[in-house]
Amino acid sequence: MTRFDAVIIGAGPAGATTALALARAGWSVALIEKVPFPRKKVCGEFMSATNAALFADLGIEAAIHAETGPEIRRVAIFAGTGTITAPMPQHAGKRSGWGVAVARERLDDLLVQNAVQAGATLLMPWRATALAPDGTDFICTIMDGAETKEIRAPVAVIAHGSWERGDLPTQNMRPHRPSDLLAFKARFRDAALASDLMPLIVFPGGYGGMVNSSGKTLSLTCCIRRDMLQDVRRRHQGSAADAVLAHIGAHCRGAREVLREAVLEAPPLAAGPIAPGIRPRYAQGFFRVGNLAGEAHPIVAEGISMAMQSGWLLARLLTSRTEVGQGRDLDAIGALYAKRWRQAFAPRIHAASLFAHLAMQPVAPALLGPVLTRFPAMLTLAARLSGKTRLDAFRDG
Ligand SMILES: Cc1cc2nc3c(=O)[nH]c(=O)nc-3n(C[C@H](O)[C@H](O)[C@H](O)COP(=O)(O)OP(=O)(O)OC[C@H]3O[C@@H](n4cnc5c(N)ncnc54)[C@H](O)[C@@H]3O)c2cc1C
Repeated sequence: MTRFDAVIIGAGPAGATTALALARAGWSVALIEKVPFPRKKVCGEFMSATNAALFADLGIEAAIHAETGPEIRRVAIFAGTGTITAPMPQHAGKRSGWGVAVARERLDDLLVQNAVQAGATLLMPWRATALAPDGTDFICTIMDGAETKEIRAPVAVIAHGSWERGDLPTQNMRPHRPSDLLAFKARFRDAALASDLMPLIVFPGGYGGMVNSSGKTLSLTCCIRRDMLQDVRRRHQGSAADAVLAHIGAHCRGAREVLREAVLEAPPLAAGPIAPGIRPRYAQGFFRVGNLAGEAHPIVAEGISMAMQSGWLLARLLTSRTEVGQGRDLDAIGALYAKRWRQAFAPRIHAASLFAHLAMQPVAPALLGPVLTRFPAMLTLAARLSGKTRLDAFRDG
């Protein structure tokens, strides 16, 4: 079959959730992914409790909980020699609770498998190379090596993320800049982090986070400015990731202590530059979900949630306002989706931008410690502002 009700490019949390929700509603869906799953991903792996309603709606609550690490009930900042801990605010929805962390290779695979079980057709590993209108349909060209196929659908959803170059116009990235943020991830075993704690790490030129993920490992992820990375590599030997880990250890006592006895599980991963900001959610007839629609600085650890929630939001709008297989009123749905998206996610993106810029000020390690020691409730407030407690825009979505 090469004609579907919807074609979705990219099977990360955004694309897979959209595919799952559409397939559950009876749509025929083609889900295109260029990399064979399971695959690792640069990501801190924390998932907010605000996703509980989404998991229940999609019937994957139990499957997700079987994969996750412990509940994260406390948040912290490790800055310079300071360590400040505060309660994580609790999600206030019907299914209240705390966030958890889950290995990305497991989460992404689980979402995709559920989409397939719900009836979605998975084309993996196939890379989308073009997407063009053709009458009331769109034609998506996909390639695997020398083989090419065309997939036709009246609804096209782009979910390929925001960090990779590619053939699609939405994958053309801007030239490198010294202020670009490059991302790294390392998984450790035998780390000494309390199981319910998620510290933010602040260090010169960047920020990061640590959390106990599924499989009893600690996931450390961070972003560092390109110009700082060049400087750090002159001072520390080894790969870029080795140099960044040494830089964090040299400037952040809390991280150093957590990792004192820790053993790297596998070579670290790198990605980026990341592209925080808000982009068009609907343009030229294409819907965009996940990081492509908008991306928060990872300092707030909300990207997975925003990816899944944006896919769920779009699927709910599409299925409640179009007949299966019909591409009617797409512009109206696109406008509504863009509006709801902004209500749901813009506050998190703005808060994340503010926190990231504060954390990357040269004086941050010296200032944050004394201020937050006196007012640790500010940490809880920051977690609240970053979207850990409410999901208002989905009430009647
Ligand atoms: C350092 C760091 C730490 C982070 N920590 C957290 C955290 O703790 N919690 C959190 O919630 N978020 C975190 N994030 C953010 C989170 O990782 C992203 O927001 C999330 O992965 C976005 O999901 P997505 O589905 O939009 O895109 P992606 O996860 O990037 O998925 C896109 C998919 O599309 C595929 N693809 C790309 N191009 C094509 C093509 N042409 N054809 C077919 N397939 C294609 C890719 O292979 C990929 O599988 C972090 C990010 C960074 C950088």
